Amino acid sequence: MNDPVLQLQGLFKSYGAGSPAEIRVLQDLDLDVGKGEAVALVAPSGAGKSTLLHIAGLLDVADRGEVRIGGVDLTGKSDRARTAARRRDIGFVYQFHHLLPEFSALENIVLPQLANGIAERQARERALQLLERVGIAARADHRPAALSGGEQQRVAFCRALANAPRLLLADEPTGNLDPATSDQVFDTMMALVADTGLAAVIATHNLELAARMDRVLRLENGRLIEI
Ligand code: ADP
Repeated sequence: MNDPVLQLQGLFKSYGAGSPAEIRVLQDLDLDVGKGEAVALVAPSGAGKSTLLHIAGLLDVADRGEVRIGGVDLTGKSDRARTAARRRDIGFVYQFHHLLPEFSALENIVLPQLANGIAERQARERALQLLERVGIAARADHRPAALSGGEQQRVAFCRALANAPRLLLADEPTGNLDPATSDQVFDTMMALVADTGLAAVIATHNLELAARMDRVLRLENGRLIEI
């Protein structure tokens, strides 16, 4: 693959190893996602998609197997190195926006940049550009509670992209929205992927949305099957 961003190779993960109740969640799982590629991850609840996203996002470690981000092997690296790679290279979006309620939309996008050493003026400029890009610059000064569900998720995407990551990981990002809003937020997300050359892995139960991504993968028996 040209320009691989996320490479997972031979991942194994189980819970309760050695006990009769052992659950084998990932079993020799491989995945490559390239620059500008959006991959849908579909799986029934309990199949292990959160486990997979957490390992790919360097929030959890596999029992065995390799995780490379941007060609860098992060397997077995220190927590510090993994945290640095996560901050620099990975953006997350969840089903619920998890925005900080006491800060405005703009500030929610500024804060992760400040934590990354960006000067405030520059961070505010970038935050505003991102809000413009997703069509809600007029809502920049509103707190999350004053935004609609679709607007909150747009802000959550902007926050995920605040530090210009290479990889976007999203766990049911439109799962809490009505179908029409879900469609619009999804279009916005796909436009961002196309614009920025991000690699994206998006878990969704919505097969219609999944079919609009570059590839659809089903997590089954601990491995990914292309459908
Ligand atoms: P999904 O996101 O697809 O619903 P998860 O990755 O959350 O699935 O979980 C996959 C399986 O692993 C489930 O059977 C779940 O109960 C189990 N599991 C997840 N995390 C843990 C844990 N920390 N300890 C024990 N079992 C877990």
